[in-house]
Amino acid sequence: MDQRHPMHGYSGPQRRLKSRRSFIANSTTIQDPPEQHRILKWREELQCEKPVPLRTGVAKTKSNMMKWGYQKELDILCECGEDQSNDHLLQCTLAPPGCTTDDLALANEKAISITIHWLKQNI
Ligand SMILES: [Zn+2]
Repeated sequence: MDQRHPMHGYSGPQRRLKSRRSFIANSTTIQDPPEQHRILKWREELQCEKPVPLRTGVAKTKSNMMKWGYQKELDILCECGEDQSNDHLLQCTLAPPGCTTDDLALANEKAISITIHWLKQNI
Protein backbone atom coordinates (compact mmCIF):
# COMPACT_ATOMS: atom_id res chain seq x y z
CA MET A 1 0.00 0.00 0.00
CA ASP A 2 1.17 3.43 -0.90
CA GLN A 3 0.97 5.71 2.15
CA ARG A 4 1.40 8.76 -0.09
CA HIS A 5 -2.00 8.14 -1.71
CA PRO A 6 -4.56 10.74 -0.57
CA MET A 7 -7.09 7.99 0.26
CA HIS A 8 -4.61 5.95 2.36
CA GLY A 9 -6.14 5.10 5.74
CA TYR A 10 -9.47 6.64 4.80
CA SER A 11 -12.36 4.52 6.03
CA GLY A 12 -15.19 6.46 4.44
CA PRO A 13 -18.26 8.15 5.92
CA GLN A 14 -20.82 6.25 7.93
CA ARG A 15 -23.80 5.11 5.90
CA ARG A 16 -26.94 7.04 6.70
CA LEU A 17 -29.13 5.56 3.97
CA LYS A 18 -29.21 1.89 2.93
CA SER A 19 -29.33 2.90 -0.71
CA ARG A 20 -26.06 4.86 -0.52
CA ARG A 21 -23.07 2.62 -0.91
CA SER A 22 -19.58 3.99 -1.03
CA PHE A 23 -17.13 2.36 -3.46
CA ILE A 24 -14.65 2.16 -0.58
CA ALA A 25 -16.63 -0.69 0.99
CA ASN A 26 -16.21 -2.75 -2.20
CA SER A 27 -12.63 -1.86 -3.12
CA THR A 28 -9.71 -4.23 -2.65
CA THR A 29 -6.01 -3.63 -2.23
CA ILE A 30 -3.88 -4.42 -5.28
CA GLN A 31 -0.86 -6.49 -4.28
CA ASP A 32 0.78 -6.79 -7.74
CA PRO A 33 2.48 -3.96 -9.60
CA PRO A 34 -0.22 -1.96 -11.47
CA GLU A 35 1.05 -3.01 -14.96
CA GLN A 36 0.91 -6.70 -14.04
CA HIS A 37 -2.49 -6.31 -12.36
CA ARG A 38 -3.92 -4.63 -15.47
CA ILE A 39 -2.80 -7.57 -17.64
CA LEU A 40 -4.30 -10.03 -15.12
CA LYS A 41 -7.65 -8.22 -15.14
CA TRP A 42 -7.64 -8.13 -18.92
CA ARG A 43 -6.94 -11.87 -19.06
CA GLU A 44 -9.80 -12.50 -16.60
CA GLU A 45 -12.07 -10.40 -18.78
CA LEU A 46 -11.10 -12.45 -21.83
CA GLN A 47 -11.89 -15.66 -19.95
CA CYS A 48 -15.27 -14.57 -18.61
CA GLU A 49 -18.56 -14.86 -20.41
CA LYS A 50 -18.52 -11.41 -22.01
CA PRO A 51 -18.85 -11.65 -25.78
CA VAL A 52 -15.43 -11.60 -27.36
CA PRO A 53 -15.81 -11.00 -31.09
CA LEU A 54 -13.16 -13.48 -32.17
CA ARG A 55 -14.49 -16.22 -29.92
CA THR A 56 -18.16 -15.66 -30.64
CA GLY A 57 -17.72 -15.22 -34.38
CA VAL A 58 -18.96 -11.63 -34.58
CA ALA A 59 -15.68 -9.93 -35.43
CA LYS A 60 -15.85 -7.15 -38.01
CA THR A 61 -14.51 -9.36 -40.79
CA LYS A 62 -15.22 -8.39 -44.37
CA SER A 63 -17.54 -11.40 -44.80
CA ASN A 64 -19.51 -10.45 -41.64
CA MET A 65 -19.69 -6.78 -42.69
CA MET A 66 -21.03 -7.94 -46.09
CA LYS A 67 -23.56 -10.25 -44.38
CA TRP A 68 -24.72 -7.44 -42.06
CA GLY A 69 -25.04 -4.98 -44.96
CA TYR A 70 -22.33 -2.57 -43.82
CA GLN A 71 -20.09 -3.14 -46.81
CA LYS A 72 -21.19 -2.24 -50.29
CA GLU A 73 -18.21 -3.61 -52.21
CA LEU A 74 -18.05 -7.29 -53.06
CA ASP A 75 -14.48 -7.46 -51.75
CA ILE A 76 -14.32 -9.94 -48.85
CA LEU A 77 -10.67 -10.83 -49.36
CA CYS A 78 -8.09 -10.53 -46.61
CA GLU A 79 -4.75 -8.90 -47.43
CA CYS A 80 -3.31 -12.42 -47.71
CA GLY A 81 -5.74 -13.25 -50.54
CA GLU A 82 -8.20 -15.59 -48.80
CA ASP A 83 -11.81 -14.85 -47.79
CA GLN A 84 -11.75 -12.88 -44.53
CA SER A 85 -14.09 -15.01 -42.40
CA ASN A 86 -14.17 -15.73 -38.65
CA ASP A 87 -12.18 -18.95 -39.04
CA HIS A 88 -9.68 -17.26 -41.33
CA LEU A 89 -8.78 -14.67 -38.67
CA LEU A 90 -7.44 -17.47 -36.46
CA GLN A 91 -5.25 -18.99 -39.16
CA CYS A 92 -4.30 -16.02 -41.37
CA THR A 93 -0.64 -16.13 -42.38
CA LEU A 94 -0.34 -12.38 -41.71
CA ALA A 95 -1.38 -12.81 -38.03
CA PRO A 96 1.25 -14.65 -36.02
CA PRO A 97 1.21 -17.35 -34.65
CA GLY A 98 -2.27 -18.65 -35.44
CA CYS A 99 -4.61 -20.13 -32.85
CA THR A 100 -7.62 -22.37 -32.35
CA THR A 101 -11.00 -21.84 -30.69
CA ASP A 102 -9.60 -23.75 -27.69
CA ASP A 103 -6.82 -21.15 -27.41
CA LEU A 104 -9.47 -18.40 -27.44
CA ALA A 105 -11.44 -20.13 -24.68
CA LEU A 106 -8.29 -20.39 -22.55
CA ALA A 107 -7.24 -16.81 -23.41
CA ASN A 108 -3.64 -17.98 -23.60
CA GLU A 109 -0.68 -16.11 -25.14
CA LYS A 110 -1.58 -17.17 -28.70
CA ALA A 111 -5.16 -15.94 -28.31
CA ILE A 112 -4.05 -12.63 -26.81
CA SER A 113 -1.49 -12.12 -29.57
CA ILE A 114 -4.09 -12.81 -32.31
CA THR A 115 -6.67 -10.59 -30.58
CA ILE A 116 -4.21 -7.70 -30.34
CA HIS A 117 -3.20 -8.15 -33.98
CA TRP A 118 -6.80 -7.93 -35.26
CA LEU A 119 -7.72 -5.12 -32.86
CA LYS A 120 -4.87 -3.08 -34.36
CA GLN A 121 -6.40 -3.80 -37.78
CA ASN A 122 -9.76 -2.51 -36.40
CA ILE A 123 -11.42 -5.91 -36.86
ZN1 LIG B 1 -5.54 -13.38 -44.19
